[in-house]
Amino acid sequence: MKGPRFDPPSAVRWIVHTLEDAGHETWTVGGAVRDVLAGRAAGDWDLTTRARPADVRRLFRRTVPVGIDHGTVGILARDGAMYEITTFRKDVETDGRHAVVSFSDRLIDDLARRDFTINAIAWHPIRNEISDPYGGAKDLRAGVLRTVGTPSERFSEDYLRVLRALRFASRYGLRIDPPTWTAAVAAAPHLSTLSAERIREELLKILDADRRPSSALDLYAASGAMSVLYPELDRLRSTEHWPVTTASVDHLPPGRPLLRLAALLHDLSPHETAQVLVRLRLSNAQTDAVAHRAGAPPMPGPEASDADVRRWLATVGPDHLPGVARVALARARVGAGDPEVVVASWRRARAVRATRPPLVVGDLAIGGRDLIRLGLRPGPAFKEILQALLDRVLDDPRRNRPDELEDEVRRMVETGDFGG
Ligand code: ATP
Ligand code: MG
Repeated sequence: MKGPRFDPPSAVRWIVHTLEDAGHETWTVGGAVRDVLAGRAAGDWDLTTRARPADVRRLFRRTVPVGIDHGTVGILARDGAMYEITTFRKDVETDGRHAVVSFSDRLIDDLARRDFTINAIAWHPIRNEISDPYGGAKDLRAGVLRTVGTPSERFSEDYLRVLRALRFASRYGLRIDPPTWTAAVAAAPHLSTLSAERIREELLKILDADRRPSSALDLYAASGAMSVLYPELDRLRSTEHWPVTTASVDHLPPGRPLLRLAALLHDLSPHETAQVLVRLRLSNAQTDAVAHRAGAPPMPGPEASDADVRRWLATVGPDHLPGVARVALARARVGAGDPEVVVASWRRARAVRATRPPLVVGDLAIGGRDLIRLGLRPGPAFKEILQALLDRVLDDPRRNRPDELEDEVRRMVETGDFGG
């Protein structure tokens, strides 16, 4: 059998040479090694070395203290990329959230603390030698995911490993070894102790990179992780909405995690969507984008009036049109709607938007200053008045002229009628 082809960037070889020439044993390890053995394109090349962080920083001109406490230094290479190199470590103590580690002189210690056998393989670029003490390459060939060491211990050291197991099993099409699976299921109730950030990043990695996120979601459900972390989705799973939801997520392409997240949350109530997004602690801008795409009212059809299309654009926010349309199209393509109608509706909405109609209060030809000039006193009524003006202007953009709107304001003040 031909051996696997390791073809790291030349910067990796340069880093290893530099350290080995100075007497420090250095290997590549983790995801890239696993990916090459799995016959896939390698992602980030991570390195592990016997050198201490201070040695690394002395040997390379441009370094970044990525996580000095954990022994991780970033090396900026001539190719413009940063390579992370971490001193061999061994676990001293772990409590499910934090690990106390100490540096070690042996690669084997470093591999022992890694989560799964397939992630505990090192490759030496100069000697072209593989170090695989836990049989990760064999597991990869046999299609099995298992922890390094006793599963229940490894999960209780760091519950994130449960989610990582689900992600790796799904991404590489691996069976989870029964003892590892049993321990993962038993550990699932503890997932609620993980930080929002780690939970979120796991989900986004699945949505970002997997060809079929639904297979990871199935494992989330089967393991109990979904009911602990995403009870709203767990509820949705028992409704007729779930097949379209998961199929639409799969249908959307990798590389657009937030779009896929919007598709995943599409059939939740606005309240449930908000709960999930708050729990995930996405940035405000991301929360806003996902909530708008997930919760947009149905797109007006190709025969809808211009005013209806403008009202819809004003509701969803014109910037969210492409995202909303992509989710709608994905759903239509998997059976929830007619793709041709969605495409036609999308075209139509784009055409209306291209006429640059006023869609938000800020687009109005008059503003708060003008209201003051007209003798009104600033206060909560301002917002109401401007909203009422926008409502008129959405009906007919030609009315968006200072004189017309001022007349309208005077009329409103006289009649006390601000209603739309
Ligand atoms: P990907 O980057 O595609 O998610 P990866 O395997 O590179 O996969 P990283 O999170 O980048 O994953 O971690 C790199 C390596 O560090 C892993 O391959 C694994 O050996 C180790 N590792 C990462 N997280 C953990 C963890 N929670 N417990 C034990 N080992 C871990
Ligand atoms: Mg990685």
